[in-house]
Amino acid sequence: MCIFCHIVEGAAPSHKVHEDEHTLAFLDINPVADGHVLLITKHHQQFVEDLPEELYNALFDTLKGLVKPIQVAFDAPASNIFINNGPNAGQLIPHVHIHIIPRPKKTGMNIFSGAARFRPRNREYFEEIAQKIREEIRR
Ligand code: 5GP
Ligand code: ZN
Repeated sequence: MCIFCHIVEGAAPSHKVHEDEHTLAFLDINPVADGHVLLITKHHQQFVEDLPEELYNALFDTLKGLVKPIQVAFDAPASNIFINNGPNAGQLIPHVHIHIIPRPKKTGMNIFSGAARFRPRNREYFEEIAQKIREEIRR
């Protein structure tokens, strides 16, 4: 069983900020800023796209309700909100979670900071990439 499932069951401690039937939000143990919250579904699933619809909706409904209070609590007009969806994307805990990180000040960085970005590409490149995605969506 994963560590977040242990937290859901109360077998591992956490500092909870919100709990309802399907979701739980608690403080990240290694915060990158004050108020760094992890929002999870109580049900274990590694990938966001595999969540049953009801739980997916519950997760994002809870997100909507948490963003403002978390920002206001830290006098933050902004927040980073993101999901590391799988190990290649930096997911360490294989249980869907949304990071919510209030940003009281301009950080001068975002989740792309430090990432090597492709240099300018031509129209053909973008058309080919978009086509690849559209084909899979239609499949
Ligand atoms: P990931 O890289 O999987 O998106 O992020 C996992 C997050 O979970 C990290 O930010 C890490 O600090 C946090 N984390 C890992 N183990 C625990 C834990 O036992 N308790 C809490 N509250 N957070 C944890
Ligand atoms: Zn789990």
